[in-house]
Amino acid sequence: MSEFKKFSSIDGALKELFGGVIEKTERIFGGDINDAFKLTLSGGEKVFMKSNRTASSSFFAAEAAGLSAIASTGAIGTPEVLGFGEENGRAFLLLEFINEGREIPEYWEVFGRQLAGMHKAGTGAYINGGKFGFMADNYIGHTKQINTPKDTWIEFFRDCRLEPQFRMAEHLFSASDLKRINRLLDALDKLLIEPEHPSLLHGDLWSGNFMTGRGGKAVIIDPAAYVGHAETDIAMTELFGGFRREFYAAYNEAAPLEHGYDDRRDLYNLYHLLNHLNMFGGSYLSSVTRIVRRYA
Ligand code: ADP
Repeated sequence: MSEFKKFSSIDGALKELFGGVIEKTERIFGGDINDAFKLTLSGGEKVFMKSNRTASSSFFAAEAAGLSAIASTGAIGTPEVLGFGEENGRAFLLLEFINEGREIPEYWEVFGRQLAGMHKAGTGAYINGGKFGFMADNYIGHTKQINTPKDTWIEFFRDCRLEPQFRMAEHLFSASDLKRINRLLDALDKLLIEPEHPSLLHGDLWSGNFMTGRGGKAVIIDPAAYVGHAETDIAMTELFGGFRREFYAAYNEAAPLEHGYDDRRDLYNLYHLLNHLNMFGGSYLSSVTRIVRRYA
């Protein structure tokens, strides 16, 4: 799937890519899923590495495909993919190391405008057949994200997003809530709208998934990218606290949100809350059932 070379050892990859060896390994904390490291090489280069002992290399091939799709829009910063692979059952991903800079004064406006630019970019290169989906399945956290192309957004969001997550969590719901869930899935064509155009999405855009690069602008990391309705990315930014007001103002000026977005936001975020329920357990159940009961 990935256009990147798959390496069978970390040292071998660094030797081939940089002609150097690792001189220093520093652990980086803050991720949810993987082990993360700053590697300093003998030539002075710095490389970011994520690794995971339980995932296969396809896990990081999927992340690499998302990062390179985002990079190819040229609209917003994201780390360059250097390579990925698997060494003795340990999957790894090597990325450009983002040196953290100081935010420029118009940080949030630029971030909003750049994300709008990414959402307005053409999507034909990221999907084969169908308008919504992605070139391959990927992961949201460690849950598989199905990206089978579909011709309509609503069908995609129902069949590839909400339905699989509901199915995984089925045992947690009461019989009456299960009825509501089925009603909700059947009513999606009345509750959601088709976008004016498909957009490449980050797919997991919360405050833990961007950094400030050396140029003082946002650099988005750790995507669960696919082609969908742009408002789902905006909805996720609002799920755990929200971004700054200037971000939304600039985004809206560049790519106005469609009428009725406020009524659809929680449906999009239902996907992420269900995923949290499936990954982390019961504490998300009440947020999920509250939304289900509001819509069905
Ligand atoms: P996970 O897949 O486990 O969620 P992340 O991709 O969120 O891991 O990365 C973990 C942390 O590493 C981030 O919170 C960030 O601080 C840092 N990080 C991520 N990507 C880079 C990078 N390319 N360069 C430097 N630091 C990074």
